[in-house]
Amino acid sequence: MKSLALHWKILIGMLLGVTFGFIMLEVQGGGDFIASWIKPIGTIFVKLLKLIAVPLILASLIKGISDLKDISKFASIGLKTIIIYVLTTVIAISIGLILVNTLNPGDGVSTETIAKLTETYANDSSVQGKIAEASRQQASRPLDFLEAMVPDNAFLALSNNKLMLQVIFLAMFLGISLLLVGEKSAKPLKDFFDSLNDVVLKMVDLIMLTAPFAVFSLLANVVVSSGDPELLYALMFYAGVVVGGLFLMICFYLVLVSVITKRNPIWFLKQISPAQLLAFSTSSSAATLPVTMERVEEHLGVDKEVSSFVLPVGATINMDGTSLYQAVAAVFIAQALNFDLTFADQLTIVLTALLASIGSAAVPGAGMVMLVIVLESVGFPADKLAIGLALIFAVDRPLDMCRTMVNVTGDATVSMIVAKIEGKLHTPKSKEWDDHLEEVK
Ligand code: ASP
Repeated sequence: MKSLALHWKILIGMLLGVTFGFIMLEVQGGGDFIASWIKPIGTIFVKLLKLIAVPLILASLIKGISDLKDISKFASIGLKTIIIYVLTTVIAISIGLILVNTLNPGDGVSTETIAKLTETYANDSSVQGKIAEASRQQASRPLDFLEAMVPDNAFLALSNNKLMLQVIFLAMFLGISLLLVGEKSAKPLKDFFDSLNDVVLKMVDLIMLTAPFAVFSLLANVVVSSGDPELLYALMFYAGVVVGGLFLMICFYLVLVSVITKRNPIWFLKQISPAQLLAFSTSSSAATLPVTMERVEEHLGVDKEVSSFVLPVGATINMDGTSLYQAVAAVFIAQALNFDLTFADQLTIVLTALLASIGSAAVPGAGMVMLVIVLESVGFPADKLAIGLALIFAVDRPLDMCRTMVNVTGDATVSMIVAKIEGKLHTPKSKEWDDHLEEVK
């Protein structure tokens, strides 16, 4: 019997995880049981993905660039990528703003709900932590991000997952220099990174064998650690607007895939779905990156010369889901707390949400930190920030899961578009974890 496709296995794992989580909520000590016995499975899985992220980016980007044979090609890929990333993000923010301004989810929030949410969350350490983190980020000078991108110690850069842009910089620098030393000197190092790249992709295949169990664990844990269901219901309309916007964004990607790359959008969804489901389960584009790279290269047919640059950069700076969420959340908070927003304020939101999504880290909950900056950009009173965040905190985790899924889908779509424009979209050749098992048995 042909075994079930990976995305079905993962979906089944997710459904069982959610069901198990709800059952455990009813059992005394269920939450503790999940924390002690189930959660570690998901944590180990995410750790394994993070473990291979840096070697994969390094090997794949160096290989990608050194295969180009022509540096101007790299500049052209880079420029197109950034332009398309900015365009899709502006579209995402516009969708968010149109929806929230026409549906006005904030107008229906009663004063009792606001009081209850404020009482429950305004002094919560996570909410306060996000405000503090935002003010730390805001204190930086305009060119700090460029300065931060350049490492002064290669090994330190490689040893910290949070320094993804430094790793990308190092890999690009190495790859370009490798191109310039000529074929003969470049060969040994190029062969080394080629081989490292293949090995790390095989590690992704092996890790993915455990994905259905991992998502079970991750989702069971999300269910038992979610807040008061009554508060969740009170925010249903707001959450619905965000999810509706994210859904429209996915439809927009499918149109792009179909019109520009001429591939069947349903086929695209099928191929990328394991990465989407993991993004949903982990709420982290960074942790999902190795799987996104594997799916895009081996299952969508994007050449490594494109994907090795577009995807790691996208995971760090292209967050369409996050920017859409920031636009909706900012206007929702303003509506609920009767803070008037002018048309100019809405335009300011477009610009700051764009920059904020670029600046958001690819980890769970990062979008909410940058939301503080978006709110401050329209003059939202600092003393009401905690109340504003408290309003949306209860549903942040589920929305984070959905927006991360969109972030990852956006990166995959753009990589296909750039590949198509550059003539680097091929018929995919997927590899399985056991392709060479017979040889070593
Ligand atoms: N969790 C998101 C990501 O990793 C970022 C965010 O919106 O919080 O892409």
